[in-house]
Amino acid sequence: MSDLYRLLPDELDALVVEMGQPRFRADQVLRALYHESPAAVDDLRQLPALARQELKDRSWQLGAAVEVRRVASDDGQTTKLLLRMSDGILVETVLMQYPEEDGQPRSTVCVSTQAGCAMGCVFCATGQMGFERNLKAEEIIAQVIHVARMLRSRGEHVTNVVFMGMGEPLANYSETVRSLRLLTHPRAFGLGQRHITVSTVGLIHAIDRLAGEGLQVGLAISLHAPNDALRQRLVPTAGPHSVGDLLSAAKRYFRKTGRRVTFEYALIAGENDAPETARELAALLHGSGAHVNLIPVNPTAGGFRRPPRQRVLAFERILREGGVNCTVRVEKGSEISAACGQLRTDERRAEDDDAMTLPVVPVHGRRQSGSSPEPSPLR
Ligand code: SAH
Ligand code: SF4
Repeated sequence: MSDLYRLLPDELDALVVEMGQPRFRADQVLRALYHESPAAVDDLRQLPALARQELKDRSWQLGAAVEVRRVASDDGQTTKLLLRMSDGILVETVLMQYPEEDGQPRSTVCVSTQAGCAMGCVFCATGQMGFERNLKAEEIIAQVIHVARMLRSRGEHVTNVVFMGMGEPLANYSETVRSLRLLTHPRAFGLGQRHITVSTVGLIHAIDRLAGEGLQVGLAISLHAPNDALRQRLVPTAGPHSVGDLLSAAKRYFRKTGRRVTFEYALIAGENDAPETARELAALLHGSGAHVNLIPVNPTAGGFRRPPRQRVLAFERILREGGVNCTVRVEKGSEISAACGQLRTDERRAEDDDAMTLPVVPVHGRRQSGSSPEPSPLR
């Protein structure tokens, strides 16, 4: 089976023309796919019945993500979704909403690009799960479409997409780039490039490749440490010169795309939150124009803890005084779940408890240990 949501507009043009239909039919189908809520090829009423039949005969379908679980924060601003793809794999998608002055909230969808992740960052629930598989572009798109439908029913729409869910987007390079093109193409989802951010653990070659794609999406690099020894401890897959290499790659990305790179820094008590570490980071980034996003870490099974508030603020102050632009990520949805990967892990645990009532999902990765997950903020 092939999914119509995989096709870029020119590929859909080619398909309708090959089927002997006029090209404008492609525009009609795209409008339906991205602005209505067709559940199946039969719902594409813009097409003559014969054309719909031919699409089905050629095994085209509309893939969809099935919602398995939805958890909303008390203030209703953060919603975590557990979505099931056609082969049963489960992924997390998060909707974060921020009130805006014009009445329409900013609605940011955080998408997953892989089920699990092979990078093994020690403080990340997804990393501790291990790698299951890459998501296809249409499965990344399905997450945004699912949320867009949810929002449409209440007169709202998706305003931003961040690639910060489960997985390493640049380790699934071609599907990630295809999904970026689908999201930003004016004839497809049509989101502004500047409303999208891709977050990477720092795959240098892929960052350079992305810079050359002619896209203008924002890039966030997960740095977490000002020196290689510390970084390698937190990100075991980081290369021996990763810090210097990442700064150079960020500069090249900026030169090529005009987009400044944000550095993400998960603050972990007793690991990378000392004042001298802040000074080292400030010295490293001083004068680079870099922006640092400090993320007090969400506790996961590895025993990592967020620093006390005072220590987070002290870290921030040292960076600012050292001339480095920086923000502390606002905690959202603290009561509904912890870091990415946790909702999914919860589902597995519940499944073990009651195999009759919950979906059976293949999981090959390592599971988190510990009995009950600690409630903590989304990252
Ligand atoms: N793989 C990519 C994108 C997904 S992770 C990356 O690593 O950038 C998105 C962000 O969440 C990263 O900055 C990551 O370091 C951070 N993160 C992972 N686990 C976290 C946790 N337990 N608490 C806070 N942030 C976390
Ligand atoms: Fe993978 Fe990102 Fe988690 Fe690291 S932080 S394990 S790269 S998802």
